[in-house]
Amino acid sequence: MRYTHIYVERSAYAYPLTKRILSASEGSGIIDIDHYKDVFDRPRQDHEFQRKNPALILAVRTGARVFKGAPVCQSFGQRNFYYSSSIMNCPFDCEYCYLKGMYPSSYIVVFVNMEDYIKDVEGYLTQGPMYVCASYDTDLIALNPLTGLADSWCDLALRHEDLLVELRTKAAPPELRAIPNVIYAFTISPEEVASRYEKGAPAASDRIRAAVRALDSGCRVRLCFDPMIKIPGWRDAYAGFVEEVTAKIDLTRVTDVSVGTFRISGDYLSSMRKRLPANEIAWYPYIVKGGVAQYTEEDDKEMQDFMCGLLEEHIGREKIFTWN
Ligand code: SF4
Repeated sequence: MRYTHIYVERSAYAYPLTKRILSASEGSGIIDIDHYKDVFDRPRQDHEFQRKNPALILAVRTGARVFKGAPVCQSFGQRNFYYSSSIMNCPFDCEYCYLKGMYPSSYIVVFVNMEDYIKDVEGYLTQGPMYVCASYDTDLIALNPLTGLADSWCDLALRHEDLLVELRTKAAPPELRAIPNVIYAFTISPEEVASRYEKGAPAASDRIRAAVRALDSGCRVRLCFDPMIKIPGWRDAYAGFVEEVTAKIDLTRVTDVSVGTFRISGDYLSSMRKRLPANEIAWYPYIVKGGVAQYTEEDDKEMQDFMCGLLEEHIGREKIFTWN
């Protein structure tokens, strides 16, 4: 992706990652700023305009960098579940993405002080093993050629056996590093969903091929059928998709599988409806339970049970995780 502008916090210039990104971004206009929030948090930003004219913000993350995992996210049975955002926002543009409701801007913010993230994680590790999802509010693997931050998390995992890192992605990288305590979580959806709602992301078939390559090179792979979207004819779409996936991937080789229906914080949903009035996914009549907008209990159960039933024919039930 080519960025029309790169906003750089003055304090970010001191970091090697800033130099790396700027030297790879010839032709982008550089604008110095005091703080990333001066650009990122402005009111009334235009998502569509920003998507057509993408900009990058290079910043230094101060304050908290590692957080306790949220209840709407799956812990996969791991204790000490945390997540961390070394980048905010994503090069892909999924219509259902909660980031559209969470952030006031579509510009991508890269925090260039990975050294501080490493210190924070190493501090937590003195208290015991840790499971960190490092690629929730972005797609670190898609952005790795520019930032190298997925590599930094892999290097950190290599140095600490008691750290388990999940890198979630919709990218289809040609190769990935096989590290026993790094799980590559490929999010995959039927083509009916991917082509309509996952703008900019590689086709589902490319992601499946990337997952096969990763398995063949000894990587730990998680497959995420999440979020399931209740499109007309969803049963046929998801049944056909499981057939397609299992024809290419022996599911007994994957670490585990996750299944989840679409859900989003009620506040993020309200903000998506205001900012993106034409967003189809946002206007579905969800119920809000415990502050989380979701399908009705019956729909949710029906969809997850249906999917789990299909997957159980290929992988043990104990390896299938659902979100509720
Ligand atoms: S790939 Fe994930 S983070 Fe990126 S836009 Fe899609 S849902 Fe959001």
